[in-house]
Amino acid sequence: MNHRLTFMLLLATFLIVVTSYHVKRDDKSWDYMVFTQTWPKASCIKFNHSRGRSCTLNPKINQWTIHGIWPNNAAKDGPFYCQPSWKFDEKAILDIEASLDLHWPNIIDKTPHLNFWKHEWEKHGTCAASLDTLNSEHKYFQHGIQFNTKWNLLNILGAADIKPSMNQTYKADDIKTTIEKTTNSRVNVGCIYISDFDYQLLVQVEICLDKQFNTIDCDDMRDKLMFNPSKGTYIFPCHGDSDVRYVPFSE
Ligand code: 5GP
Repeated sequence: MNHRLTFMLLLATFLIVVTSYHVKRDDKSWDYMVFTQTWPKASCIKFNHSRGRSCTLNPKINQWTIHGIWPNNAAKDGPFYCQPSWKFDEKAILDIEASLDLHWPNIIDKTPHLNFWKHEWEKHGTCAASLDTLNSEHKYFQHGIQFNTKWNLLNILGAADIKPSMNQTYKADDIKTTIEKTTNSRVNVGCIYISDFDYQLLVQVEICLDKQFNTIDCDDMRDKLMFNPSKGTYIFPCHGDSDVRYVPFSE
């Protein structure tokens, strides 16, 4: 009898664990959004140093560009690919495509023009679409353009005399605090190391937003998640008091 009871208890525990695992895996809920911008010059240098990839910047690009609007949960990434049947459709964004080419360009050579938008929409946009304000491709990409215009990092940093330059370097902490003074929230600032350069290169800024698009503090944990070589990500939180190179387009 005792054995039977033990068996039933073990079975019940097993079922609870398996069920909660599946509930977790299927959970597409999220807490906040990460609006990520890229310094396209540094990103392009990174792709030109990656095996099998190269990059050319459209000469009309003269500002920070968008990487994505990423729904996220505290202390973990994602969710991703929330509605697999909702495929990217170019027709939905035709009227803003020319603007997206400047604000949210695909800079990787020999990849289809729409590739980057398709990836961002299907991986992140279909999760963001749980908000009424982002529940269409058009709304998702249009918000990207609005955020990129609102937090114009070239201007924000430029106003503090942090300008792209090969003659000058900056402290990562100064870059971070300058942006934080504008957003009133903690942001993440990402860098890369490239063998041809002496210093870490500024490449990415993450601004975190609540569901009403107010800025909120990005959590510390996310900072650590940024650097994940196993996922092929080699952007790391810029080293605080070390010099940073903000590479100019002309380089
Ligand atoms: P995530 O998957 O987190 O949305 O974004 C990371 C992916 O975006 C990486 O695979 C990275 O290589 C890709 N990515 C970044 N910039 C570009 C770009 O300009 N074009 C394309 N096609 N992919 C990009």
